[in-house]
Amino acid sequence: MNPMTQEKPTVLIVGAGLGGVTLGLILEAAGVPFSIFEKASSVKPLGSALSLGPTVLPLFKQLGIYDEVLSKCKAHVITQDYSEDRHPVGVVDWKLVHELGGYAAQIISRPVLYDILLRGIPSGKIHMNKKLVSYFDEDDSVTLDFADGTQYKGHVLIGADGAYSTVRKLMYAKIKEAGKLPEEDEGALPYRTTCLVGQTTPQNPEEFPEMRTEDCTFYSVRGINEPYTRAVFAGKENTHMWMVVHHLNEELSSSQDKQESNHNSEWGPEAAEAMCNDVRHLTIPGGDGNLTIGDLIDRTPKDLISKVMLEEKVFESWYGDRVALLGDACHKFDPAGGAGAANAIQDAICLGNWINTLPKTISTKEWRIVFQDYVEERLPIAKENFAKSQFFASLTENTWYAMGLRFMVHNIPEFLHRRVLVQLMQNRPQLSFLPYVKDEGTVPAMSQHSLIHTGWIIKSVQQEADRHARKANAASPVVAV
Ligand SMILES: Cc1cc2nc3c(=O)[nH]c(=O)nc-3n(C[C@H](O)[C@H](O)[C@H](O)COP(=O)(O)OP(=O)(O)OC[C@H]3O[C@@H](n4cnc5c(N)ncnc54)[C@H](O)[C@@H]3O)c2cc1C
Repeated sequence: MNPMTQEKPTVLIVGAGLGGVTLGLILEAAGVPFSIFEKASSVKPLGSALSLGPTVLPLFKQLGIYDEVLSKCKAHVITQDYSEDRHPVGVVDWKLVHELGGYAAQIISRPVLYDILLRGIPSGKIHMNKKLVSYFDEDDSVTLDFADGTQYKGHVLIGADGAYSTVRKLMYAKIKEAGKLPEEDEGALPYRTTCLVGQTTPQNPEEFPEMRTEDCTFYSVRGINEPYTRAVFAGKENTHMWMVVHHLNEELSSSQDKQESNHNSEWGPEAAEAMCNDVRHLTIPGGDGNLTIGDLIDRTPKDLISKVMLEEKVFESWYGDRVALLGDACHKFDPAGGAGAANAIQDAICLGNWINTLPKTISTKEWRIVFQDYVEERLPIAKENFAKSQFFASLTENTWYAMGLRFMVHNIPEFLHRRVLVQLMQNRPQLSFLPYVKDEGTVPAMSQHSLIHTGWIIKSVQQEADRHARKANAASPVVAV
C-alpha cells in the first residue's frame, strides 16, 4: 500500500505521446490527480517498431501490464545485415541482453504499445484537441492556455510535448529573459537524416516466411550506392514494421522556424508522398526474394506513413519554476539506438517517484529542488544514451568509415561485446511506491537516486504512522469481555 496519504499536487501533462501517457499511468497508480492535454484531435496508429528491454520492462511488471505487453512482442535475438543485392553480410547478436539484464530484448509495434498504455488512463483524464499556447506561473499554481480559449489550473506542469515542445519554448523565453539560458540551449535541433516509417496491414505468413519465425526477423540493408538505410521488422501481428533513413550530405542545422514550417518536424503523413516515390525501388530481403520498399508502401495505409526529420540533441535546461520537461522535449535521439521511448519512460519513472512523495502545498522553491534532483539523475544518463545513439546512427551511414565500423561490429570479440552490452543494460529503474520487482540480471542494476531517496521517505512516513497507531492502541481502554 502507498502510505503517502497527504493531499497531492495536481499535475498537468502537455503531450499524450508515450512519455506523457506513461507518466499518467504512473500517477494513476500513485493516486496523484492529473490531466493530460494533447493537441491532436484523435490518436492515430502511427509509427513503426519500438525496442523494449531490461531498461523499461521492470516498470511494466510493477504496473501489471508486463504479460500483456510481452504477448504482443517478438524477441529480438539478432539483427541480420544485408547488402543492397540482398546478400547477408553480417549479424549483430543480442542474446546476451537476457543474461545481463534479466529480460530479453523485444520488438513491439509502437501503436500496439501505445494502445496498451493509453487504456490505463481514465478517459476523463485525457483531453484531445488541446493545443497549448501559453502558461503562467503563480506562487502556488500554474495556469495553461489552450488554442480553443480554455484554461486549466494545477500545481505543476510537465512538458511531454515532443521535439518541438511548446512548453520548452515558453519556458526558455522566461529563462532567457532572466539571463540564465545556456548558449547550447538556443538555436535549432540539428539533424543529419530524414526518415520514412510505416507498418503494413497483416500479411499472409505463407507469402512471407519471415513472419513464421518465433523470434523477430529484423533485417537491415545499409545503402552503399545510394544514401538510404532500410530496417524491416516482422511483427507479432504478421505486419512489416519498416523504416527508410535518408542520409543527407549537407550539414542541415537550419533555423527552427524553417524546420517547423517544413511539415517534417512532426510524425504524420503530410510530407511522405514525395519520399515514398523516391524510395520505392530500394531492395529489401524477405518475401519471395524480390521485394522492394515499394511492396511494403503498397501494403501500408497511406495515412499511416510518416516522414520526419531525425533530430539529435540533449538540452541542458530541463525545468523552470513549476515546470519540467520530459522525453523528446528535453532529449532527442536518433532512433538507431532504440533509446527514445525508453528514456522518455525512464524520465516518467523518476518524476513519478518524486511527485508521489510531495504534498500539494509545496512551494515553487521546493519544486525547483525536486526538479534539480530529477535532472541530476536523468541528464547524465540521457547524455550517455545520446552518445550511444550517435554511434549506432553512424553505423548505418553510407561511408567507408561506417563500413569499417560495421565490419568491427560483425566480428566483435565476445569480451568486448559483453562490455558494450553491460553499459547498455545497467540502468533498470523502478518505482519506489509499488512492490520492487526482483532483479534477475547478472549485471547489477545501477544505483537509482529517486528510488532510494523516495523509498526512504515512504518508509519513514509508514514508520511514523505505525508508531501513532501503536500509541493510539495503547491509550485506548481495554474492554474485558
Ligand atoms: C505519432 C508518432 C509516431 C512515432 N513513431 C515512431 C517510430 O516509428 N519509431 C521511433 O523510433 N519513434 C517514433 N516516434 C517517436 C517516439 O515515440 C518518441 O521519440 C518517444 O516515445 C518519446 O516520446 P515523447 O512522449 O517524449 O514525445 P512524442 O512521442 O513526440 O509525443 C509528444 C506529443 O505531444 C503532442 N504535442 C506537441 N505539441 C503540443 C502542444 N502545443 N499542445 C499539446 N500537445 C502537443 C504531440 O502531438 C505528441 O502527441 C513517434 C512519435 C509519434 C508522436
